[in-house]
Amino acid sequence: MSPVASDFVPFTLQANSGLDDYLKANERWRSDMQNEHPSLFTLNGQGQDPHTLFIGCSDSRYNENVVGVLPGEVFTYKNIANRVNVDDLTCLATLEFAINVLKVNKVIICGHTDCGGIKTCLKNQRDDLPGLQCSHLYQYLGDIEDLKHENKALLNTPEYQNDLEKQSRLLSILNVKKQYQRLLTNETVQNALANKSIETYGLLYNVHSGKVEKIEV
Ligand SMILES: [Zn+2]
Repeated sequence: MSPVASDFVPFTLQANSGLDDYLKANERWRSDMQNEHPSLFTLNGQGQDPHTLFIGCSDSRYNENVVGVLPGEVFTYKNIANRVNVDDLTCLATLEFAINVLKVNKVIICGHTDCGGIKTCLKNQRDDLPGLQCSHLYQYLGDIEDLKHENKALLNTPEYQNDLEKQSRLLSILNVKKQYQRLLTNETVQNALANKSIETYGLLYNVHSGKVEKIEV
């Protein structure tokens, strides 16, 4: 990367960073954290007591830190397109551990704009994925493909037709709603809601502005 280009890139590490760079970056981060929050590592060393389960997309541009939290506050589950697959063991175990063991009192599904999984389906590029190398990804994205077909009429209205960014944002919102409805079918979540021990929210993160907005789920 040229010096000029690097001036515009605020990232800590790059594609050519090696292990030493990671370790040095960790030392700087650790030192900064200790200066800014002197009690943090002592507190975290005593165990975790998160208040929130954050379910988001694996996209590199956002995570629970978009609400300014520190390590120890949020238990996180990220996957492609922030799916809540209630037949998936990882998802089921995550919900049970966060709600029944860690006793979080908030569960958030946070989707985002410009989601690659959603755009791949919207641009009909799912079929172009290299079959042998991405057969699981193809299968996985079937859920988003279904979502697209379920909302075909709306996507083809004048407001959205021929506007990929608008369609993509709409589908990101509809995906949060769909995954939220799935969350509500989970027994662990149902029990916690019945006990009033959790609140559940749907959110959308805007990668262009950093803003988080509420989704009416
Ligand atoms: Zn995404």
